[in-house]
Parts: sequence; structure tokens; C-alpha cells
Amino acid sequence: MFRRTVTVMVAFVLALVGGVVGGSTAAADVHVAAVTITYDDSRAGEFVDAVAEGVAIWNDSVSNVRIERAAPGTRADVRVVADDGWPRATLGPVFPGGSGTVWMGRQAVDQGYSVVRIASHEFGHILGLPDMKPGPCSSLMSGSSAGTSCTNPNPDAREAAWVEDNYANAPAPAERELVVVGWLD
Ligand SMILES: [Zn+2]
Repeated sequence: MFRRTVTVMVAFVLALVGGVVGGSTAAADVHVAAVTITYDDSRAGEFVDAVAEGVAIWNDSVSNVRIERAAPGTRADVRVVADDGWPRATLGPVFPGGSGTVWMGRQAVDQGYSVVRIASHEFGHILGLPDMKPGPCSSLMSGSSAGTSCTNPNPDAREAAWVEDNYANAPAPAERELVVVGWLD
């Protein structure tokens, strides 16, 4: 009797889940929602505007992921930090709940490299692109190898397609949100 009741309930729950999954799949056919990741520029110093430009370029270049500035005081998936070293970044792709960092190093800016190209390039790493050096100026991920005269901040077709691919099949929230909860939290 008890077992039978449980079996019926399980079947009912499965039917509910099936209905929900079926419904969202149908909706996805109509409108594919982009993954949105956020960034914190509170420590980006003099590079805030260049970072905003680099982010806008990515938002114009791809549709499977969007990068938005986090509201002040809220947790961000990517933090942008100005320092005196060489520009660098965490290699993504970073997903919501993830943790990436872009260092806007002054060393390259002081040497004459385009600051918007640097910002866009470093966000390319956040979106999962490796360096592609040496390479031509038309390639964003050729980075410093294209020289200080190269100011191109746009990904080429292959780079944009690569990022689209990285975010085409976003992992389920349970798989990507590896939150560490400390003893004193
Ligand atoms: Zn790089």
C-alpha cells in the first residue's frame, strides 16, 4: 500500500518534470537566451572606460553570451584589476557563478599598446579564447605579437565563432556553480 502510493507519486512528479522540461525546450526553439556574466570594475582604475569599450565590442560580436557591469556592491563573475604588471586574465569560459580576473597591466600601456585592444583581448580569455601568437593585427588574440601599431579591438570571424561555440551549450547550473562555503560564512 505504502509502496504503491510512493510509486504513483514518483510517476506524478516525473510527469511534472517532463512537462516543465518539454515546455522550456519549446520556448528555447523560439528564443535562445544568452548566458549573462557580470564584471566588477571598481578596481579597474583609469581603465574603466577602455574596459567598457572592450566589453561592448564583445556584446556586439557574439550572441550566445552577454557581459554586463555588475551593480555596485553585488557579486560579479569577473573582476577587473589595474596593476603595474603585464596584462593577463583567467582563461575561461567563465559562466555565471564562476570566478575570473582580468588584470589591466600598465606595463603594456606604457609601452604604447592600445588600451582598448588590451581590454578586449583579455576579455577574449575570459570567454575561453587562448592566445594565438604570433598572429596578424586582424586577430584579437594575436595580442602583443601584432605590435604597438595595431589598435584593432575586434575579434575576427574565427575568434567570434569560437566564443559562440563555448557558450552554445552552457553547463547546467548545478554543474557550474561550484560555490565554496567556509566554516565561518
Ligand atoms: Zn593574451
